[in-house]
Amino acid sequence: MTVPILEVVDLHAAYGRIEVLRGVDLTVPRGAVVALLGPNGAGKSTLLKVISGQMEKTSGDIHLAGVHVSGAKPDDLARLGLTTVPEGRSVFPNLSVEENLLLISYAGVSADQVYETAYSYFPKLKQRRFQFAGTLSGGEQQMLAMGRAMLSRPKLLLLDEPSMGLAPLMVQKVFETVLAVSGEGVTILLIEQNAKLALEVSHRGYVMESGEITLAGDAKALLHDPKIRA
Ligand code: ATP
Repeated sequence: MTVPILEVVDLHAAYGRIEVLRGVDLTVPRGAVVALLGPNGAGKSTLLKVISGQMEKTSGDIHLAGVHVSGAKPDDLARLGLTTVPEGRSVFPNLSVEENLLLISYAGVSADQVYETAYSYFPKLKQRRFQFAGTLSGGEQQMLAMGRAMLSRPKLLLLDEPSMGLAPLMVQKVFETVLAVSGEGVTILLIEQNAKLALEVSHRGYVMESGEITLAGDAKALLHDPKIRA
């Protein structure tokens, strides 16, 4: 059996004395899209922060491609192939699309190569290349954030609520984008509140409530689960 790209084992984390993750177990197989669903305040973003090295756990273990990474710094994790697109997308509003992309350029990679890579995933960005990122639509900003993330050639992409605040048509586009990125061989952990659409593009799903995983299984089976429907 191949080693999962991400394995979270009995993970606990707290803000001060308030425990927010209470023994989370979660596995992301290589090449899969895994949806992490749950209501506001369930602890989804907190889990992502701990996995990506932005917050310390209280106890438990995290393995990235079989390597024990609990306590690793975000830059070490990036070198292992982990890339995060945080909630809110975090593009620089007063810089153009191209300037936003250039900020993620790497030694030995020309600006043209950077643009070409990003536009190959998101052709729409090319039409907007000189526009300030802050004046893009929410969906276009999401594309820019994901295009930027793809420049680092991630092995595992953590997406925190990419559809948040978007109009229905844009939400559809964002999920198509998730499928396209997955088609490039990138493994994705997708945090979402939009359960139906997230499960439709995923292989597996987890439901988190009050810091615990309360439901897990095949995404297509979860789509019909009465709890998800409710
Ligand atoms: P949402 O879908 O609304 O983003 P979530 O499932 O991502 O929710 P978290 O953001 O992980 O939930 O929050 C889990 C709990 O931790 C919530 O009760 C929240 O109020 C609390 N919390 C989050 N960040 C902090 C913080 N910096 N300090 C104290 N409590 C926090």
